[in-house]
Amino acid sequence: MKRMNKVKSLYVHIPFCDSICDYCDFTKLLYNDKFAKEYLENLKRELDDYSPFFVETIYIGGGTPTSLPYDYLAELLKMLSKYSSNVKEYTVEANPENLNPEKLSLLKEYGVNRISIGVQTTNDEISKKINRGHTFEEVKQAIKNAREIGFSNINIDLIIGLPNVTKSMFEKDLENIVSLGVNHISCYSLTVHPNTVFYRKNIEEPTPEFARELYDFAHEFLAKKGFVHYEISNWAKEGKMSLHNLTYWNNENYYGIGLGASGYLGSKRYKNFINIQKYGKVGFIEETEEVENKDLRTYQLLTNLRTIFGLDLEKFKNLFNEDLLVTKKNEVYELIKEKLIVVENNKLKSTYEGMMVLDQILLKLI
Ligand code: SF4
Repeated sequence: MKRMNKVKSLYVHIPFCDSICDYCDFTKLLYNDKFAKEYLENLKRELDDYSPFFVETIYIGGGTPTSLPYDYLAELLKMLSKYSSNVKEYTVEANPENLNPEKLSLLKEYGVNRISIGVQTTNDEISKKINRGHTFEEVKQAIKNAREIGFSNINIDLIIGLPNVTKSMFEKDLENIVSLGVNHISCYSLTVHPNTVFYRKNIEEPTPEFARELYDFAHEFLAKKGFVHYEISNWAKEGKMSLHNLTYWNNENYYGIGLGASGYLGSKRYKNFINIQKYGKVGFIEETEEVENKDLRTYQLLTNLRTIFGLDLEKFKNLFNEDLLVTKKNEVYELIKEKLIVVENNKLKSTYEGMMVLDQILLKLI
């Protein structure tokens, strides 16, 4: 079996936030100066363990990386500059309320070329109800600031199916976001996780029918506005697809650094400690899993079929010594008949309908 060894991407997790949103299940904690200082020291040690390396994409996610005060953010970017000389895409996640011109200039100075802003809803009342700390005016201001400082590559995250958000309110969200001229939009359907305020309040997830209705609207509306629906939950203007996320969806190797981060190196997947009392003190990696051939095959299908680029049948044959069109001939035929997949240029691709019911496709092919 051939393994993919070139590590193209680096994910860095900054777990701090200025406030905690009611639905949030990410690895995060309220900003605390002592923890943040210590955390940066630990990050540096963890990075040193992998040095030297150069990657094509860096993604600083969280948490809210821009909740770090200016000096700490500068320290982080300086630390990462050792690895960023070949970088093509350098993304930092931010919340509108802490994306000020000073921090934006700093990001620019260190080569960051993509900003991903957590918005979730453009309705101020809903935003307040879910404990987001910003208004739509602040979103507009943050984008204006980013543009003035020279960022043209901007993503906005929205949530599909927040409580009390009707279809027309969601339509308004999309209209508002498109009117800001951003070139990438991610829409994730709400999941209510245990250990969240939503869970304690018994908030319900949107029904699959309602979520589908909203996805259908987004799919059609954003297509008319020139966005390509290139992954289940992601839309981009031509040439603005997230290179970093494509590393995940192509099932390729990446470093994951920081609290609770996951990485995939050679044939090993690893997961870091999620407890801040243990991360960097007990060690960095909590679990390592050797990916066996059959699991790698599953990952290949599961990740590749999420995007419109699909699964390269020749590459699949080289990796697993298996011609999917022979071993799964009947299943592929049925899926084509059901209009869930197509075979084009030796690639197996999910249709929009297929992406919406990806589990059904995977059940047949795995
Ligand atoms: S800002 Fe992001 S990471 Fe922080 S609590 Fe809200 S959703 Fe979670």
